[in-house]
Amino acid sequence: MQFKNIIGHEKEINILKNAVICGKVGHAFLFSGPAGVGKRLTAFAFGGALNCKNFNGDACGECPDCRLLGTGNHPNLIFVSPTDKDGNEAPDGLVKIDRVREIQNLLRFKADGRKVVIVDGADRMQPVAANAFLKTLEEPPEGSVIILLSSCATGLLPTMVSRCQKINFRPLPKGAVAAFLSKHKGLKTDDAEMIAAQSCGSIATALKSMDGAGERRGVLERLVQLAPGDIDGALKLAEELSKRDDLDDILELIKTWHRDVAVSSVCEARFAANPFSAAPEGLIKELCARFSAVEGARRDIMPPRYANKQLTMEALMLRLIESKPAVHGRLG
Ligand SMILES: [Zn+2]
Repeated sequence: MQFKNIIGHEKEINILKNAVICGKVGHAFLFSGPAGVGKRLTAFAFGGALNCKNFNGDACGECPDCRLLGTGNHPNLIFVSPTDKDGNEAPDGLVKIDRVREIQNLLRFKADGRKVVIVDGADRMQPVAANAFLKTLEEPPEGSVIILLSSCATGLLPTMVSRCQKINFRPLPKGAVAAFLSKHKGLKTDDAEMIAAQSCGSIATALKSMDGAGERRGVLERLVQLAPGDIDGALKLAEELSKRDDLDDILELIKTWHRDVAVSSVCEARFAANPFSAAPEGLIKELCARFSAVEGARRDIMPPRYANKQLTMEALMLRLIESKPAVHGRLG
């Protein structure tokens, strides 16, 4: 993995690159931020940069070290996570003390290059394992670099956090996620943008929600095209929705659509030449109220409430077709 292959996070990557260039690399880092935005890939690229013999702002990808790093078998790169070697997560989802001891042993041997330990899910360590690992962070073996990855940094021991240089990874821009989906998954622009809008800036979330995305968009289109006051159409759609396994994803999509229409209405008004064409306040209020109605319905059918799905969807669909002409017919 090389820095050049990572999407976004230019500022964060520059901090790491410059540390390698200046020869001033700290011994411990905490990469925090949402899951699926590139923390782990950046940690691997950083590990590569620290071990490549031809480092020139990025790992070369071709020297023997880079090639070995690419196979995942380089002795200087140690990866730890709550999953075992076969990718199975531990039943309790925690990193065990035995694994921490194993790392501590590996770090005792002097390395040609820099030993890099990447701990994925650093907030998910057995308490005894976290305490043992704290000792390694307090007295790191010479030349080693420890990178903690966490999407829930509040779950880390404060004493661990205070020993680390913090690098915060923000959600990726919607356009970057959509471009990734188009380029690597061959999605059409409309579908890529729709999934990206719901991904919260996470490629992992976007990949998970790819299944059935086109079909969900079709459901949204039908809802948007329902004529105001079309009670029969609304009840039919409500019945269909209540039987779907991906109802939660659909409701999330309907919410996102209302938010996007509100945002685009405000933006259009701001850039309009005629000040009298400002987005009507009533429209924005109505979109916000509908957004809240969808979120309310979503919560009602989830635990612990478990409201009747069909009745909840009927009430929601009837609410969404109330006559507000400015909203209807605007999709995308
Ligand atoms: Zn190299």
